[in-house]
Amino acid sequence: MSKLFPEHILVLGAGPAGAASALGLKRLGYRVTLLGTVRDTHRIEGISKRVIESLNINGFVEAAECVSPPVPRYSYWNGEKHQANVEHIIQRETFDHGLLKDLEREGIDYRDCMIRHVENDSGKWKISVTSAGTEDLLVADFIVEARGRSAPLSNNQVRKGPASIALTATWRHSRVVTPHVVAASISNGWIWIVESGRGSTYVQLTVDSEDSTLPVKQEIAPFMLKHLEELESAGINSRQWQQPGNELARGSTSILVEDCVSDSFIRVGDAAMTADPLSGNGIFQSLSSALIAPAVVNTVLRRPDQRSMAISFFRDRIRHLYTRLARTGRDFYRLESRYHNEPFWKARCDWPDAEPTHLPEEIIGTEIRPVVCDGFIEERDVLITKDQPLGIWMIDGKPAVT
Ligand SMILES: Cc1cc2nc3c(=O)[nH]c(=O)nc-3n(C[C@H](O)[C@H](O)[C@H](O)COP(=O)(O)OP(=O)(O)OC[C@H]3O[C@@H](n4cnc5c(N)ncnc54)[C@H](O)[C@@H]3O)c2cc1C
Repeated sequence: MSKLFPEHILVLGAGPAGAASALGLKRLGYRVTLLGTVRDTHRIEGISKRVIESLNINGFVEAAECVSPPVPRYSYWNGEKHQANVEHIIQRETFDHGLLKDLEREGIDYRDCMIRHVENDSGKWKISVTSAGTEDLLVADFIVEARGRSAPLSNNQVRKGPASIALTATWRHSRVVTPHVVAASISNGWIWIVESGRGSTYVQLTVDSEDSTLPVKQEIAPFMLKHLEELESAGINSRQWQQPGNELARGSTSILVEDCVSDSFIRVGDAAMTADPLSGNGIFQSLSSALIAPAVVNTVLRRPDQRSMAISFFRDRIRHLYTRLARTGRDFYRLESRYHNEPFWKARCDWPDAEPTHLPEEIIGTEIRPVVCDGFIEERDVLITKDQPLGIWMIDGKPAVT
């Protein structure tokens, strides 16, 4: 058994949230060990320019190097075609290894292992891990839970959106096409297509996970092709695609864990809150929560009298973000009016509520609220607007309240 000191924090999960938390905590002077393993499944995701900026600003230069140049993004939604904006494409396995290279350069202790069991025994965390056939038990006073959607939900109060699943697969073809991305609606779901420009097409089909026609793994590709037929009128001709591979099913239900922080643990990234991929920016949101988490942990551990304020600050932020992203997703679903009677669309156009996503930037007043300041959560004067009820502390690097 390896005994760890109170100021030695274990971070569970080696994705963007685990990496950003580990780095932030190390910079605040903690000994950090990152536990986890990079998934070797083929997953393609799209990120925006601001994620690349955030990666570079926060020291994840190797990860930022794994990102593609911008590719145009088209949408076929509600029977209309638009060129929406651009996206940058990442292959998640490569990207996550990039994050680990950055952590290695920063001197963070990383242990490539499977986390088998985590329990709190009389205030101590006991984490059983295996690597290369060897078992070990680690003990810590504080853990950062960053195992994404794999983080156990038991004993946590959770809120969930409509149950969704994303089926993904790659096809080969011999057509000459420039790289691009397409997001398209179909009668019982939506499809995201990444055309690599090098003879391969990655497809992600999101449907309701309670759909009784969902296939077994071997039948994922034909099931997806059947749904892709609906896009022929939009010029997407999957009949020319061959040799399907890398079939995968990924849960994509929106989940909020209300109980995401205490005096001995914090959940960051997808482990705290996951949004419907349609509302986008999962990696950005994960990085964002992981970038404020170190200040929350620092306050909880080093300023016990401020502990409850730091805990409420983090919990309120995660809850606020979840609701906002849920409404953003709902607004995208509502832009599709052809299928509003179909069960998939009906459930998502009405969830989470009927409230507007954004309210006018009308100023309500000023209040003293917690903010992230010099590695701690501290109270400051902030500007409260209808749209930003948690308050705005800084605008362009200057205090919003003078
Ligand atoms: C279908 C789908 C499509 C998406 N598309 C996009 C997109 O295009 N753009 C975007 O920005 N976001 C997208 N997202 C969201 C994005 O994937 C997540 O928000 C982001 O990866 C969360 O980062 P994280 O670090 O919190 O969790 P993860 O990235 O899930 O990282 C968790 C880490 O913990 C490790 N781990 C878990 N359990 C164990 C264990 N028991 N032992 C050891 N290691 C373990 C995993 O291997 C992984 O390395 C998508 C999500 C889904 C489901």
